[in-house]
Amino acid sequence: MTRKLCRGGSSWALGGRRSSAPRTDPSGLPRKWDEASDVIIVGTGFAGLAAAIEARRAGAEVLVIDKMRTHGGNSIINGGEMAAPGNRYQKEAGIQDSAELLMKDMLKAGAYLNHPDLVRICAEKSTEVLDWCESVAGAKFVKLVFHGGHSVKRSVQTDNASGAGLVNPMMAKAKSMGVKFMMTTKMERLVTNREGRVVGMEVRKGYKFPDDQSGKVAFLKARRAVVLASGGFSQNLELRQIHDPRIDARFDSTNHPGATGEATLAACKIGAMDVQMDWIQMGPWTSPDEKGFGQVPQFCERLVGYGLMVDPKTGKRFIQETGNRKVRADAMMALNHPVIIFSDSVNVNRQVLPHTLAKGMENGAIKKFDTIEDLAKAYQVPLDVLKAEIAKWNGFVEKRTDSDFNCKIFPETTPVAVAPFYASRLWPRVHYCMGGLVANKDAQVKNFDLKPIPSLYVAGEAMGAVHGAVRLGTCSMLGCVVFGRIAGQNAAQQKPWG
Ligand SMILES: Cc1cc2nc3c(=O)[nH]c(=O)nc-3n(C[C@H](O)[C@H](O)[C@H](O)COP(=O)(O)OP(=O)(O)OC[C@H]3O[C@@H](n4cnc5c(N)ncnc54)[C@H](O)[C@@H]3O)c2cc1C
Repeated sequence: MTRKLCRGGSSWALGGRRSSAPRTDPSGLPRKWDEASDVIIVGTGFAGLAAAIEARRAGAEVLVIDKMRTHGGNSIINGGEMAAPGNRYQKEAGIQDSAELLMKDMLKAGAYLNHPDLVRICAEKSTEVLDWCESVAGAKFVKLVFHGGHSVKRSVQTDNASGAGLVNPMMAKAKSMGVKFMMTTKMERLVTNREGRVVGMEVRKGYKFPDDQSGKVAFLKARRAVVLASGGFSQNLELRQIHDPRIDARFDSTNHPGATGEATLAACKIGAMDVQMDWIQMGPWTSPDEKGFGQVPQFCERLVGYGLMVDPKTGKRFIQETGNRKVRADAMMALNHPVIIFSDSVNVNRQVLPHTLAKGMENGAIKKFDTIEDLAKAYQVPLDVLKAEIAKWNGFVEKRTDSDFNCKIFPETTPVAVAPFYASRLWPRVHYCMGGLVANKDAQVKNFDLKPIPSLYVAGEAMGAVHGAVRLGTCSMLGCVVFGRIAGQNAAQQKPWG
C-alpha cells in the first residue's frame, strides 16, 4: 500500500499525479468534497448490504462503495449456510435448540475469548435475522445442515447453496430502495474533524485492484456516519504473517483476492483499536486437488459424522471428524501432509448434494472407487489397517458412540459398507480472520481511550472478537447480518454535521 502523503496525512495527488494546489488543508480535511451522502458504507458483502438496507429504511441517504469491479466480496462466494437456532427445519426434524445453546457453542469454540455481549446479540437475534433475510431481503433458505463444533444440526442453507442466494436479493432490494453504489472505489483514508468525528473519507475512484496508484483521488463526505464492512485480511500475506508467522506462503486462501484488510488499518490510523488479529482460521476441509474454495468443503462437511477421516500414512483415524475447524486443521498441520475423508454410496448419496459430487468428480478432487482396495491403492494407505479401522468405525455406528474420538454419529448414519466409495484429499487453507476492530454492541468502533469514535461503525468480518479463537461454521453470515443491521440503523440516527 503506497500513498502520497503530505501534512496531516492527506493527499496532494490527483489521478496519481501532483496537482498545483493541495486538495486538503493542513489538518487533512479536504478543501472541497467531491460527493456527499448521509451514510457511507465500505463493502458490498452481507454486512455492508444489511447496513445499507437498514440505514435506508431509517430514512438516510446511503452510498455504498467497493474497491472491486464486482460486488459481494467473500459473501457472494460463500456456502450460503447460516446458523439459525429454532428454525422451521429443526422443528420438523424434532431437534431441540435455543439461542442460549448457540451462545454456549460459540463461546466454547471461541475458547471464551469472544466478547460475550457481542455473542449474546448474535445468538438472540438469530431468529429475527433469518426472518429478515427471507421477508425483507428476499432470500430463500431450503435445508438444514450440520457443521463441526455445533451441538446440533441448526444451520440453514440458501436455495442455490451459495452466499449469492442472499447477496443478490439484498443488492436488488438496496437498489430498489434508492441506495447508491460506487464500484472500483477504494477507501484509502478516513477523514476526521477537529473533534475526532469521522466526517468522510479519501478514496480512489476508478481503482483497478491491486494497483495502488490506479484511479483518481476523491473525497466523499459522510454527513451522518461511515460503516466499515470491508471484510478480513486472509489474502494479505504480510499482514497475516505479522500476526501469525506460521501462516506463510505454503498456505493458499479460500477468500476473494480483495480480502486484504487495508480498511481496518485505515481505521487504526485514526485511533481505532484492533483485537485478536492473530486468531486466523484455517479451513480444514479444502483440497489440494482443486483451487480456491472448490467443491470439497461441501463434500467434507456433509460427510463428517457419516464417514472416516484418515491419515493415509498410517491408515488410521486421527481426529474427531465433527470437531471444530481449529481442532481439525491443527491436527492436519501437525501431520504435515494431506489426509483423506471417505464414505460409502449410501451415506454420500444421502448427504452430499448431487451437483457438489458431480463437479468435484469432474475436476478430479472427489474420486469414486469400486472397492476399498482401490481406494487404499490410490492414496497409498496400508490396506489391512484401513480395513480394521473401517470395521471399528462401523461398530461405533452400530452402537452410536465413537469411543476413540467422540465423533458425533447421527441417527441416519449407516455403516461404511456399500460400494462405490467416494473420497477426497484434504489440506487446510486460510479462511477467516477472527480479529478486527474493537466494537461495542451498538457496532461503534472503539479507540484507545476505550470510547466510541464518533460516527464510525463496523460490521461483519472487519469486526473483531465476535468469534474468539475459533469461528464456528455458519456463524459469520449470522454475525454479518446482525451487526450490519445494527450498524446501519445506528449510523442513520447520527446527527448530521455541516
Ligand atoms: C469460500 C467461503 C465460504 C464461506 N462459507 C460460509 C458459510 O457458508 N457460512 C458462513 O457463516 N460463513 C462462511 N464464510 C465466511 C463468510 O462468507 C465471510 O466471513 C463473510 O462473507 C464476510 O462478509 P463481510 O460482509 O464482512 O465481508 P465481504 O463479504 O468480504 O465484503 C467486504 C467487501 O469490502 C470490500 N473492500 C475491502 N476493503 C475495501 C476498501 N479499502 N475500499 C473499498 N472496498 C473495500 C471488498 O472488496 C469486499 O467486496 C465463507 C467464506 C468463504 C471465503
